[in-house]
Amino acid sequence: MRIETNCVQAGYTPGNGEPRQIPIIQSTTFKYDTSEDMGKLFDLEENGYFYSRLQNPTCDAVAAKICALEGGSMAMLTGSGQSANFYAVFNIANCGDHVVASSTIYGGSFNLFSVTMKKMGIDFTFVSPDASEEELNAAFRPNTKALFGETIANPALTVLDIEKFARVAHAHGVPLIVDNTFATPINCRPIEWGADIVTHSTTKYMDGHGCTVGGCIVDAGKFDWLKYADKFPGLTTPDESYHGVVYAEKFGLEGAFITKATSQLMRDFGSVQSPQNAFYLNLGLESLHVRMKRHCENAQAVAEFLESSDKISWVSYCGLKNDQYHALAEKYLPNGSCGVVSFGVKGGRKAAESFMKHLKVAAIETHVADAHSCCLHPASATHRQMNDEELVAAGVSPDLVRLSCGLESAEDLIEDIAQALEAI
Ligand SMILES: *Cc1c(COP(=O)(O)O)cnc(C)c1O
Repeated sequence: MRIETNCVQAGYTPGNGEPRQIPIIQSTTFKYDTSEDMGKLFDLEENGYFYSRLQNPTCDAVAAKICALEGGSMAMLTGSGQSANFYAVFNIANCGDHVVASSTIYGGSFNLFSVTMKKMGIDFTFVSPDASEEELNAAFRPNTKALFGETIANPALTVLDIEKFARVAHAHGVPLIVDNTFATPINCRPIEWGADIVTHSTTKYMDGHGCTVGGCIVDAGKFDWLKYADKFPGLTTPDESYHGVVYAEKFGLEGAFITKATSQLMRDFGSVQSPQNAFYLNLGLESLHVRMKRHCENAQAVAEFLESSDKISWVSYCGLKNDQYHALAEKYLPNGSCGVVSFGVKGGRKAAESFMKHLKVAAIETHVADAHSCCLHPASATHRQMNDEELVAAGVSPDLVRLSCGLESAEDLIEDIAQALEAI
C-alpha cells in the first residue's frame, strides 16, 4: 500500500465483527491456562503477551504502523523520544564504547549523550553535520559502535546527508541511527538512503496535537550484526538472562535489534508508552500525511514572507532557494521538510522579545510541531543562562526566534507576524 493508506490502516486489521478502531488494551497482565504456556514466553520460545512493561497489543499495533511508514522490519514504542534515543544507542554501546554523533542534534539528546551516558562510560565525539567524509572517518575509533544524526536538526534545521553518513558508518562496520522526528516518514524515509535504525519523538508531528509524549524505534533489519560479531557481543553472544539466547541467530537480521531492546532494556528500564497514549498517537498518525503537507505549505509561505521583510536579518528554512541546505533538501526532502522556521529579528535580543510578546496567533511555548503555531526565543528561555558570546558558540544567536507553523491559515500567520514586527 502507499504511505497515505498505511497512515490510516497499517498495523491493525480487525477480524469479522471486531472494532474498526484499535482497541485500547488497558491491562497490565495477560492470563494463561498453564505454567508451561507462560514459561515458553519467558524463554522467548513463543510470541505472546504477559506483562505490559514488555509488550502490549495496542502499543504493538501502533509500532507496526510506524514500522510500515518507515519501511522497517520491526519497531517498538517507548515512553518518550528521549527513551527511544537512549535505547537505540544503549542497545549496542556499552561502558567503554564510543559513538560519533552530529553536533547539531536536539539539546535533550546532546545532554543525554554528553552528560548522562558519559557517566555510564560511553564516550561521544560530536562532528559537524556538514563534515566531509575524511573528517567523519577521523572521528571513528576501534571501539566506535554507531553513528548518529537527525534528518532535520531541532532547532538548527541542518539537513543530514544521510547517504554520506551511511557510507561512512558502514565502512567502519557500524550502523547509522537517524532521528527522523522533524521530517517524519511522509517527507523522508532514511532507511531508503541507507540508515539502519530510525528513531522518533512521536510527541511532535506524529501525535501532532500536543497531547501525548512518546517515542518509537524502527529497525531496518539490514545491518549484519554477525558479520561484525566482535563489535556487538550483546547481539551475537548468549544472553544469560534469557537462558543463553543469541539474538542475531534466533531472531535474524530482521528481529534481533528490537527483540533485544524489548526483552532487555524495556524489561529493565521500563520506559513504556501507555496503551491509552498509543491510541492517541494512532489518531494522529491517521492524518499525518494530510497534516505534514499543510505544515510545510504554511512554513514555506511564512519563510518567504520573512525573507522579504526588512525587519528580519536572516531566515533559515531549507525550502528557501537561498538556504544553505536547499540542495540537500531537494534530494532528501523533495515533497517538503517540516513546519519549523528559524529567523533573526533586526535589533537583536530586545527586538526578538518584543516581537514575540506582540504575536497573537503563535503562542510562546517550548514545544514544536503540533497543530497550534508556537514560538520560542531560546536566548530568553531554554538558553537564558548563557551570555551573548556563549549563545553564538552554541549555534543559537541572541536574535534567533524558532517558529513552529501549525495548521492555521497561512494568511493569518503572516498578518500576525507582520503586525508584531510593526509593533517592535
Ligand atoms: C523532542 C525531540 C526529542 C525528545 O523527545 P521527547 O518526546 O520530548 O522525549 C528527540 N529528538 C528530537 C529531534 C526532538 O525534537
